[in-house]
This record gives sequence, C-alpha cells and structure tokens, in this order.
Amino acid sequence: MEVLAGGAPEVIEEPPEQPAARKEKVGYKLASRDHKPDDTIIDVRGVRIGGPGFVVIAGPCAVESPEQILKCARYVRECGGALLRGGCFKPRTSPYSFQGLGFEGLQMLADAGREYDLPIVTEVLSPADVEPVARYADVLQIGARNMQNFSLLSEAGRSNRPVLLKRGMMSTMDEFLNAAEYILDRGNHQVILCERGIRTFETATRNTLDLGSIPILRRLTHLPILVDPSHAAGRRELVIPLALAAHAVGPHGLIVEMHPEPEKALSDGPQALHFSEFADLMRRIYQG
Ligand code: PEP
Ligand code: MN
Repeated sequence: MEVLAGGAPEVIEEPPEQPAARKEKVGYKLASRDHKPDDTIIDVRGVRIGGPGFVVIAGPCAVESPEQILKCARYVRECGGALLRGGCFKPRTSPYSFQGLGFEGLQMLADAGREYDLPIVTEVLSPADVEPVARYADVLQIGARNMQNFSLLSEAGRSNRPVLLKRGMMSTMDEFLNAAEYILDRGNHQVILCERGIRTFETATRNTLDLGSIPILRRLTHLPILVDPSHAAGRRELVIPLALAAHAVGPHGLIVEMHPEPEKALSDGPQALHFSEFADLMRRIYQG
C-alpha cells in the first residue's frame, strides 16, 4: 500500500464507555423504558390513553361561557372525541389578555363533561390550585410554560389525577423526561406527555412541530405520548395537515383546539378549528 504522508495512521482506541458514566447523564429512571418495558396505559374514566389505541382530546383553548363549552362538548362527543379540553386558568403572554374564568369556568367545563359523558382536561398554573382543580378535573394539564416549574410538578405528583405534561418550548427530550420524573417520583404514575412544538428561528408557524420527538420518546419512555398540532401551528389551515402527519409517526393521540365561532374566541382563535373542520379531521383519522 502506498503511504501518502507521514506513515500509517496510528489507531487510537476509544476507551470503552463506562456504564456508570452513561447512567449519570440520564437523570430520570421511572420514566424510562429500561425501568418499565411495557407501555403505560392510563385509564381516565374508562378511556384508555397509551398502548394500542388512539385518542383525540378536543375543545376550546379557554372555557368562555356555558353555551360555548356545551356546544363544544356535544360536537366532540358526536365526532368520537375521547376527552374534552378547556382552559380555565390561562397562562397568557400579556397580563391584559383574557386570563380565563377560573373556578367558575371549571364548573362549566365539569357540567359540560357530565352532560356529554366526556372526561375533562384543564390546566393548572399554581401548586395551590392542584388540589381544588383535581376535585373537578379528570386530567390536570401542566403547560409548556410550566414544564420546569418544579413545585408545580411536585404538587401534581402528589395528586391522584393523571397529568398531561406539555413539552416546554425550549426543552430537550432529556429535560422533558426529567420533568415527568418529578411527577412520577412523588408517587403519581399517571403521566401523559405532549409534544406541542418548540421555538425555533422560523416565524412562519407559531412553533415548529418536532415530529422526530415522537419515535424518540416511544423508545425512551413507556409513558403515553400525544401531539398538539394547534399550538405548534398557530394557524387553523395548518392544523389538519400537521395532525395527519403526527398521526403517521406513532403517538397515542392528539389534543386539538376547536371553537363554535373561532373568529370570536377570547384566546387562540386563529388556530381553533371550525366544527366542520374538526369533523373532517376526525373522519380522516378514524376512517383513513
Ligand atoms: C393550551 O393548551 O391552551 C396551552 C396554553 O398550551 P401550551 O402550554 O402548550 O402553550
Ligand atoms: Mn390555547
């Protein structure tokens, strides 16, 4: 063999990776597939989230009135949705934006859920609200802005309600799973993860939907994983394409915003589906 310069390259052997060092990098344990190889399936009043099924959670960004949430609940039920969502405590960027109806809204949401036999999901913003909200809500949502609010995670971990944990807008998979670990470690083993897009340099969409995270999370964790195409898109016309793309990469369900009159919505109107669009999405998901 012809040697071009400097003789044969010296072979440098990489030292074998130390199992202990590898373990140290991953701070979570209970959330990992290594710890629990089988998929976790969470039963929310008879609706199973995780494992082989595919659920769609839908409703408005915020509960605005009894009429609005009842209309949504009825439509979600008619179209085959599994759970009803609706924010009552809203984490708004501006303090002057609609902040939600609080416990009054929660009562409206609970009534609508009962009327149409749909379990309800709503966001909790503070540790003090976990216990009172859990009295009415079937699933507690922890939003993207609070993914690393460790006192909120710990308090939700002491609740016996399932927790829908959204990925922080600047969070890595590792940070996301460590946030879930806080809840699991406090004794609440019912955690549902939700990819809702991350912030990138792109401004054409509200966030960038990181669909690569779904197959990665499926490998790393046994926890159920949902995709929220609404907050990723920020624009209604992108929600169905993103939802269908998400469906193809293997999550356990979707959470989608819809509204009887999106143009009049008090929050996130531009990304809310009209009822007819929601029906179209449900047909395309469940009838192929
Ligand atoms: C929401 O679901 O209405 C919400 C505020 O979502 P995120 O925390 O993902 O922004
Ligand atoms: Mn919203």
